[in-house]
Amino acid sequence: MTVSDWTTRYQGSVMNTFGQPQTVLVRGEGSRVWDADGNEYLDLLGGIAVNALGHAHPAILEAVTRQLQTLGHVSNFFASEPQIELAEKLLELAGHPGRVFFTNSGTEANEAAFKATRRTGRTKVVVAEGSFHGRTMGALALTSKEAYRAPFEPLPGDVTWVPYGDVTALEAAVDDSVAAVLLEPIQGEAGVIAPPDGYLNAARDVTTEHGALLWLDEIQTGIGRTGAWFAFEQSGISPDLITVAKGLGGGIPIGACIALGDAATLLQPGDHGTTFGGNPVATAAALAVISTIESDKLLDHVTTIGDQLRRGLGDHPLVTATAGRGLLVGVVLARPVSADIAKAALAAGLIVNAPTPDRLRLAPPLILSENDAAHAVTTLRAVLDEVGS
Ligand code: PLP
Repeated sequence: MTVSDWTTRYQGSVMNTFGQPQTVLVRGEGSRVWDADGNEYLDLLGGIAVNALGHAHPAILEAVTRQLQTLGHVSNFFASEPQIELAEKLLELAGHPGRVFFTNSGTEANEAAFKATRRTGRTKVVVAEGSFHGRTMGALALTSKEAYRAPFEPLPGDVTWVPYGDVTALEAAVDDSVAAVLLEPIQGEAGVIAPPDGYLNAARDVTTEHGALLWLDEIQTGIGRTGAWFAFEQSGISPDLITVAKGLGGGIPIGACIALGDAATLLQPGDHGTTFGGNPVATAAALAVISTIESDKLLDHVTTIGDQLRRGLGDHPLVTATAGRGLLVGVVLARPVSADIAKAALAAGLIVNAPTPDRLRLAPPLILSENDAAHAVTTLRAVLDEVGS
């Protein structure tokens, strides 16, 4: 079966929400994947910041296999060892006592946090323009793109929008009626946009002043992606709610709403639930991801390789700036040709993403080697030459 054969079958059977797939992948190993025609690709997107340890990593394989052989699923009438260990580990990494609610995806982690905000007795949520928080109805209400929201209205209300990174606008929007301020420490889907220094600190100050929660969506930035366990660490603050997913399971679906301090008890018995959230296999996979990041010292590696990619691409004539931190890399283009570049890169054996017309996003596995990063830079520069000329 060729890519073309599979694509025809896909189009006849899978709901058309994503458009035509770029190719059909059949195998992955480390930072590389192969399609049904045998073409090899260096994966600089990592399943959109998901495959933290690359493809077929032995630590995840071993953890998932061992857990499935031991105990694959229990309902939430029962607890399991990896679930408890992962909750404790996430709280340790977050640096504060609290409680964790496990989910299967990012959007569900945000739904849990959204419900927790309602339990403050307030309903208003202040959210940034350009944000992406997911596609379920609650998370969608907090997602900025009008085209995503409009066909599905009415959505949960009482949402106030502020320009991302603007401290004055944020301070003006927050008063004693606000339940929570929700922010991404770096906006991923918007094209890897970091706010000015001090923005998260200002958000912490204004929410504390008005008794509102600070909720940080670290679904894309969390679990080592930026060279720290959480991107907010750089600002030295501590939020009330943190949502994570994507890289947490390294490819096994899992998300979590981490509630710190008083926020930990907002959701009480009966307030929320899930069949699969906190599943033993998914939590065992996440524990393997975290312990491998620790044992292989990947946080430092992420910073080094991220810098290598930015340095290697930043001075190309078609590139006006590079953005992001660690291995969440934004490449700002002088012209709106990102889709052409992503297509030409794929033909040259590189998977990159074009989140906006003038930005590329790279979110490769955290294990990307120096050699692979050098290969990525050389190949992508050649693609930029070709498209730019
Ligand atoms: N929040 C952020 C910041 C994201 O980047 C995403 C996905 O791209 C989500 C939420 C939604 O996560 P999921 O697609 O797992 O539902």
